[in-house]
Amino acid sequence: MCPATRDERTAHVIPSPTTAMPDLRGIRGWLFDLDGVLTPTADVHMHAWARLFTPVLAAAGAEPYTDADYFAYIDGKPRYDGVRSLLASRGIVLPEGEVTDAPELDTVHGLGNRKNAAFNATLAEEGVTAYPGSLAFLDAVQHDGCLAAVVSSSKNAPAVLAAAGIADRFEVVVDGAVAAREGIAGKPAPDTYLAAAERLGLDPAVCAVVEDAESGVRAGAAGPFGAVIGVDRGAGAETLLALGADVVVHELDELIPALGFETRPPSSGAPRPAGGGPAGVHRPADSEREGGLA
Ligand SMILES: [Mg+2]
Repeated sequence: MCPATRDERTAHVIPSPTTAMPDLRGIRGWLFDLDGVLTPTADVHMHAWARLFTPVLAAAGAEPYTDADYFAYIDGKPRYDGVRSLLASRGIVLPEGEVTDAPELDTVHGLGNRKNAAFNATLAEEGVTAYPGSLAFLDAVQHDGCLAAVVSSSKNAPAVLAAAGIADRFEVVVDGAVAAREGIAGKPAPDTYLAAAERLGLDPAVCAVVEDAESGVRAGAAGPFGAVIGVDRGAGAETLLALGADVVVHELDELIPALGFETRPPSSGAPRPAGGGPAGVHRPADSEREGGLA
């Protein structure tokens, strides 16, 4: 969970005084990851896995499913690999089946498809609320006329955006379904982010990638983007900086002062004066910025 107050958040900040903030004032397109950046969707995925495996393991007479199983056997893996791994932990072997298997079938693919159905049902029943800090940041950049895109590996991105009530806030969505249909390489390749910039009609150099995951920060660092923003939801600021993030924050609204918007009337078209970076922002050391991890 996010810390409750800004004081608590900034208490975790590790100052890095050696380099200047990336200049975000020339960024015209913001390319947001979804899960963990705009919405706390990991919780929905965890609930869905529990919803899938609790009855399956009970029926098999196996040790009950717990959240620890999620982190040990499922987190970060493609869906069917997660199914296979959890079943193996209980000594259960099921037929592989086919990707097209109905969710009712007791096959690896059937269970994976059942998990997806459980995810959508959980989303519909419990909903999901976008991070307030991310919404405030989105408000700020869109108020200034910037364009916004969602770039997600998930094939459920449209459903998540709809459940959070923010589907109409983005000009472009490049999700797992789009990538699969069009043969676009997924993260950590930069291709889905490049595709989003192209669809916005913007040069990647005036676009910023916003990511919470290691693979996503790698994707941003591998492309010619104007900035890579890391959001630390648990990966760790130092890790994200080392992988190529230009700056890491706990909540995106910490970055609003760096946009320079407050120093001039909205939409005035006046040049933005130069300014320092905001408090509460991690900045990379020179060695990290030039690490060449892309
Ligand atoms: Mg993410």
